[in-house]
Amino acid sequence: MVDTDTTTQTATAAAGRDFIRDIVRASLESGHVRSVVTRFPPEPNGFLHLGHAKSICLNFGIAREFGGTCHLRFDDTNPVKEEQLFIDAIQRDVRWLGFGWDEHLYYASDYFGQLYDWAEHLIRAGKAYVDDTPPEAMRAQRGTLTEPGQNSPFRTRPPEENLDLFRRMRAGEFPNGARVLRAKIDMASGNMNLRDPVLYRILHTHHPRTGDAWPIYPTYDFAHGQSDAIEHITHSICTLEFEDHRPLYDWFIDSLPVPSRPRQYEFARLNVSYTILSKRHLTRLVTEGHVSGWDDPRMPTIAGLRRRGVPAAALRDFIGRVGVARAYSTVDVAMLDSAIRDTLNPVAPRRMAVLRPLKLIVENYPEGACETLEARNHPDDPDAGVRPVTFARDLWVEQDDFMENPPKKFYRLSPGKEVRLRYGYLVTCTSVEKDETGAVVALRCTYDPASKGGNSPDGRKVQATLHWVAAAGALAAEVRLYSHLFNRPDPGAEGDALADLNPDSLEVLTGCVVEPVLASAAVGEAVQFERTGYFAADPDSRPDRMVFNRTTGLRDTWAKVQAKT
Ligand code: ATP
Ligand code: MG
Repeated sequence: MVDTDTTTQTATAAAGRDFIRDIVRASLESGHVRSVVTRFPPEPNGFLHLGHAKSICLNFGIAREFGGTCHLRFDDTNPVKEEQLFIDAIQRDVRWLGFGWDEHLYYASDYFGQLYDWAEHLIRAGKAYVDDTPPEAMRAQRGTLTEPGQNSPFRTRPPEENLDLFRRMRAGEFPNGARVLRAKIDMASGNMNLRDPVLYRILHTHHPRTGDAWPIYPTYDFAHGQSDAIEHITHSICTLEFEDHRPLYDWFIDSLPVPSRPRQYEFARLNVSYTILSKRHLTRLVTEGHVSGWDDPRMPTIAGLRRRGVPAAALRDFIGRVGVARAYSTVDVAMLDSAIRDTLNPVAPRRMAVLRPLKLIVENYPEGACETLEARNHPDDPDAGVRPVTFARDLWVEQDDFMENPPKKFYRLSPGKEVRLRYGYLVTCTSVEKDETGAVVALRCTYDPASKGGNSPDGRKVQATLHWVAAAGALAAEVRLYSHLFNRPDPGAEGDALADLNPDSLEVLTGCVVEPVLASAAVGEAVQFERTGYFAADPDSRPDRMVFNRTTGLRDTWAKVQAKT
């Protein structure tokens, strides 16, 4: 299912408006809010992905646009799955996306003391009780969407007994799972979240920040809204799955002496075709070894996209084009590639690289000689300057730029055909060399010395311009070509998403040659390999053997889709 709504959403975003920004504007204009405070609240149990980028751009973007503040808060309430590694990666990724939080870095675990006191407050008010019901029985008592739940036999425990048991839970007297603290709301509520939700569970687990100080941990639901209240968040922006939790959050806020009253607003989460945005699944891809790590360039993680060479500006642009709405939709992944191209095209330096090399020998060029020619770094930007490229007798060209018996419209190399070597000379193929199996191993050509720079000396027409690299001085490179990690637009729609993995999502070309200036290519910064695509050096590169990741191809399939509609 591919979104058809994106053009209207794009228009909305371009005007700097969406329903959330309208709400923010209205709350400022009415004087209801004096200064906007938002937050981005990741759980540190994985790397950030494209969906998080949307939430980051929204929360930090709104704070920036309306002169407010945005907090980075780690919702670290489940130590079983959370790690310092993820806390560090998340901070790196938010900064890289272009946002900062100054001194406003917080952790839900900073509030464990306060949350505990508030839990006691609920107990004393008769609004929370300790339940000894074993987990399976508790699940059975919860009822279903169509049937009400049943009250726990422990629901009527007097407050003093609850307080005593809760304090002993906190003191570490009971084993994991022996008891929980629950809110006393309504087991018959049509909203399952209000059927006496669990507030605290026993978990004898080391926490990355609080160490072994706590044998009990608050649930996400109990921590989330109160953390917002503690931080005086004015607009708690989250995805629609939490709409049903809002009555519960409001119940907590109404029942507790919190210092402020945040309001929650929900928007539709980002879905992208051929992509999975769920930490649970992304974690499996990493731990089961389907990818090389969280920053594998095929991953929809910010770290993966960065390694692929996607600039932060392209991600921000993409998120802007997607817009913010309440309707669920799936964005075509081609739109992301389109944003990447639009960002890179005006700035990416042009380079020449031959991915599948075929030897070309310029027979009338003096043996052992070479000369330095000038190549422009950008065709439309004179300020980008020029760089030297070496021309010599032995060159590399692309295998598929040659056909021995070409069809009519094949304008590139074939016996007798003249082509332009970009920034080099016009050359005419005179013969081919084959090995004993009949495979073409080299082309023989002559060049026109009067065509230096690739200019036709007498106005004669040359229909193809090829990229090339001189053999002497060429740098060996490995090039990694990526395609979608999943082979259907809606992975997981019919069962396990991992069954939809595309077995051909990575193609490694090991025998590539690139021009020598690429030895100093900066890791993660995309350049355009002429006629081939955008590529960025990988951290695996060594000066004598560069490794490049294809960021994206040159053809804009999204523009074609747009033109048709
Ligand atoms: P996942 O679904 O991948 O497990 P999550 O929602 O559990 O993600 P959190 O760390 O809790 O991950 O998310 C932090 C913030 O990012 C939340 O406010 C959440 O609403 C938002 N977010 C997560 N996924 C998306 C998405 N696909 N689109 C928009 N916002 C998202
Ligand atoms: Mg979550």
